[in-house]
Amino acid sequence: MSSPTVRRGGVGSTSRGAWVLDVSFVRRWIVEAAARIEEQRDFLTQLDAAIGDADHGINMHRGFGAALATLESSAADQPPGELLERVGMTIVYRVGGAAGPLFGTGFRDIGRTISDAPAPDAEALLMALTAGLDGIQRLGAAAPGDKTIVDAWAPALTAFESSLRSGGRVDEAAREAADAATIGVAATLPMQARKGRASYLGSRSIGHQDPGATSTALLFGALERVVRRTA
Ligand code: ADP
Ligand code: MG
Repeated sequence: MSSPTVRRGGVGSTSRGAWVLDVSFVRRWIVEAAARIEEQRDFLTQLDAAIGDADHGINMHRGFGAALATLESSAADQPPGELLERVGMTIVYRVGGAAGPLFGTGFRDIGRTISDAPAPDAEALLMALTAGLDGIQRLGAAAPGDKTIVDAWAPALTAFESSLRSGGRVDEAAREAADAATIGVAATLPMQARKGRASYLGSRSIGHQDPGATSTALLFGALERVVRRTA
């Protein structure tokens, strides 16, 4: 009699239960992120009204709407890295302002890194998220403390890496990353903006939550949710 095989079904899992950075995972992440951005669109725009030009929610919603269309128009078996590169380029081209090119470049570089990764595992996700931040910083030249996307992404990445390095499962690492992103958003309140439109306000930007960091936390929240479901 053959021994029973434990099967853990579900997208992103192999039959042995190991988490896989596959195309289904990528699709779920984008769909989840788009849903969260849609939910928070007006809030993101309100945040931008206080220290920018009141379009951040509109920009992100447009970008992720275009990302969903890219998923629809892509072959079901398109490799995950290529799909994220396409999503990133779509966001770059379809969204004006600062955040579209920045997030789009981030997703493009995440995709490129996944394409080059030796295995579709948690290490690949770590390398990809690192490349995403590198791309955003190469383009936008923001450092931690400048009150931008970087102030949520960088702590999320640090938390993800340290959790994996201390032996954490990918779902635990993703949870810690999402929590760190949220804490990073709160930390933007007392910061004075040094990049983007909010920097024109000087010290009047102090006391306001950064819209781009807030969107970043939504992306990491979406990642956490999808990893948790698929790990
Ligand atoms: P715009 O400022 O062109 O209207 P958005 O309103 O969509 O674009 O995005 C504003 C957000 O972009 C800010 O809240 C900030 O987080 C982010 N941002 C602006 N400049 C930079 C930069 N150089 N690097 C990283 N993030 C930036
Ligand atoms: Mg704006």
